[in-house]
Amino acid sequence: MGLKKIDDNLYLLPGSPSTLIANLDETIIIDPGKGKDRHKDILREMRKLSLESKISLATHTHADHIEVVPKLNVTLYVHESEFSSAKYKIVREIITVGSKMFNSFLKEADRLNDIENVKTFSWDEEIFGIKTIQLNGHSPGMTGFVINNTLYAGDSFFGENLLSKVGMPYFIDYDLFMNSLNKLLDFAEKGYTLVPSHGPIVSGESAVELIRRNIETTERLESLILELLSAKRCEDSLLKELMKKLGTDISTFTLYLNRVPLRAILTKLVNENKVEIIEDDGLLKFKSR
Ligand SMILES: [Zn+2]
Repeated sequence: MGLKKIDDNLYLLPGSPSTLIANLDETIIIDPGKGKDRHKDILREMRKLSLESKISLATHTHADHIEVVPKLNVTLYVHESEFSSAKYKIVREIITVGSKMFNSFLKEADRLNDIENVKTFSWDEEIFGIKTIQLNGHSPGMTGFVINNTLYAGDSFFGENLLSKVGMPYFIDYDLFMNSLNKLLDFAEKGYTLVPSHGPIVSGESAVELIRRNIETTERLESLILELLSAKRCEDSLLKELMKKLGTDISTFTLYLNRVPLRAILTKLVNENKVEIIEDDGLLKFKSR
């Protein structure tokens, strides 16, 4: 699949994640992505436009977004809070699932080792003519990049297909994730084109609708969990019942990954005194107050 021109000097190489190529004073590769031949596709498509790049920006450091960085011979720029995670495989695994992870579940993490050339940026600065926007919650340093009228939003929101497949968006902090969605809604209402890493490009009314759908899906999780916790439950039982209600495919992978956003919501509810933590016959359980 080839590059799609989406704005002046802006090209998208579709994928999951999709890669944005910005031909500004420098040529920048944003979220190069994963896969055995992804770097070859990127280099071939850039050559067709006589472009070369020594710089890559990443919205965040989950392995699927940066796996091919070492093969592109670029310096990688990430938000300062994810410097260690960009550089070191072990930290990358910790910010993804809280500990070292099963290689068979996230194969790209298995292939991607430490990365040498990493530099950082802050939020609300301009780097190579690109504005950096705080959109965290999915990861600690998740960043949106604004170029002209386009916002490359990484994993701060998801397309319809992914939302219905996994049932719950992935985040590590509920409030930060919601703040980011509300910020995205603002950009959508102002007429920006939004580019997610996983899903189709949206603008106008369809951008507003999709962000609202992300907000509603996330809010619904909170009310479903409070409802399910009218009886005390351990995390596994809560997750099973929640995924049944959401109609999510139940597999070892979704059960493993969805624990992360579930814990993020439980943390919020416990901190807000809406849910209590109970030790019950050697099990950690939760119950609505
Ligand atoms: Zn991610």
